[in-house]
Amino acid sequence: YFILAHQPDFDVVWCRGTVAKMIFKPWVEQIEKAGGKVLTNKRVNDIIIDHTGKAKGVICGDECFEADAVIFAVSINGMKKILQSSTMLQSRKEFRNLMNLGGIDVLSTRLWFDRKVEIRHPSNACFGFDATTGWTFFDLNALHDEYRDEPGSVIEADFYHANQLLPLSDQQIIQKVQRDLGTCVSGFREANLIDSTVIRVPQGVTHFAPGSYQYMMQRTTSIENVFMSGDWIITRHGSWSQEKAYVTGLEAANLVIRRFRQGNLAKIIPVDADEFHIQVTRKINKTVREFGQTLFSNFWLP
Ligand SMILES: Cc1cc2nc3c(=O)[nH]c(=O)nc-3n(C[C@H](O)[C@H](O)[C@H](O)COP(=O)(O)OP(=O)(O)OC[C@H]3O[C@@H](n4cnc5c(N)ncnc54)[C@H](O)[C@@H]3O)c2cc1C
Repeated sequence: YFILAHQPDFDVVWCRGTVAKMIFKPWVEQIEKAGGKVLTNKRVNDIIIDHTGKAKGVICGDECFEADAVIFAVSINGMKKILQSSTMLQSRKEFRNLMNLGGIDVLSTRLWFDRKVEIRHPSNACFGFDATTGWTFFDLNALHDEYRDEPGSVIEADFYHANQLLPLSDQQIIQKVQRDLGTCVSGFREANLIDSTVIRVPQGVTHFAPGSYQYMMQRTTSIENVFMSGDWIITRHGSWSQEKAYVTGLEAANLVIRRFRQGNLAKIIPVDADEFHIQVTRKINKTVREFGQTLFSNFWLP
C-alpha cells in the first residue's frame, strides 16, 4: 500500500557508510553532549509504579533505573517479552491486548553475480510469485557506493511474509531468488551466482492484519507518565515502518517535553499527500467502512 501511495519515494535512498557510523554514533554523541547517557546491553523486564500510579523507574535484571517518564521503543515481540515478566503491565488491559498482535517472517538475501545485468530501476517491488509473499529487490551497484565498481551485479532481495520460505535450505532459497529475479529481468537467467547470503528474521516485521488495529497501542497509556513508540503505535502522521517508528518516537518525546515543560519540541515533517488513485481508494474504503461500522465496529482501518 505505502509503495503505491508514494511511488517516487520508493526509489530508496541508502546511507553513505554504515548506519552505525553515520547515524547512531553521532546521535549517541549528541545525547551525551546534552547530558544523557546511553546504556547498552540492558534489557528492561519490568516497570516500577509508585503509590500514585505513576511510573518511577524500570527494572533491568538486577538493576533498577529511576525515571520521571518512560518511553517504550521496542517491537511487538520485545514488548510481549516485557509483558510476560511484568505483573504490573499484565494488570493493564491495553498491554494485555498486545498478545493479539504479531509479526511476519522476513527473509533477506544478497546475491553476487559474475556479470553486470542491466536492471531498469534500482528499486523494485514484486508481487504474484507466491500467494502471500511480497518482495523487493535492489540493484546495489546503483545504490551503494561500495558496490558501484564491482564487476558483477550485487542484488539485495527481501521477502516479506516469507513464513513458508524460512524452513528452506540456503541453497533452495537462493535458487528460488535467482529464478524469481530471472522472471523479472531475463539477464539473471544466464548470469552465474558467485556468492550469496541468507538472513532469516522470524516475526521480524509488524503484521498489520485486518482486525489488529483495535489492539495496537496509543502513544499514551493508562500510566500517565508511560508512553509508547514504534512502527505499531497508532499515529495520525501517515508514515510506515522505520519512518513511523521514528515519528512516533518524536511524538512520545514531545509528550514528555510538554508534560515537564522542559526542552524543545521536535519538529515533525508531515508526509506528502497520497497519490490520486490511493486517495480515491481511501474514499471508497471510508464510505464502505462507515456503512459497515454498525455491523463490525472497531474492525476497519482508520
Ligand atoms: C529484513 C527487514 C527489512 C526491513 N526493511 C525495511 C525497509 O526497507 N524500510 C522500512 O521502513 N522498514 C523496514 N523494515 C522494518 C523496520 O526495521 C522497522 O519498522 C523498524 O526497525 C522499527 O523500529 P523500532 O525502533 O520501533 O523497533 P526495532 O528496530 O525493533 O528496535 C527495538 C530495539 O529495542 C531493543 N529491545 C527489545 N526489547 C528490549 C528490552 N526489553 N529492553 C531494552 N531494549 C529492548 C531491541 O534490541 C532493538 O534494538 C525491515 C525489517 C526487517 C526485519
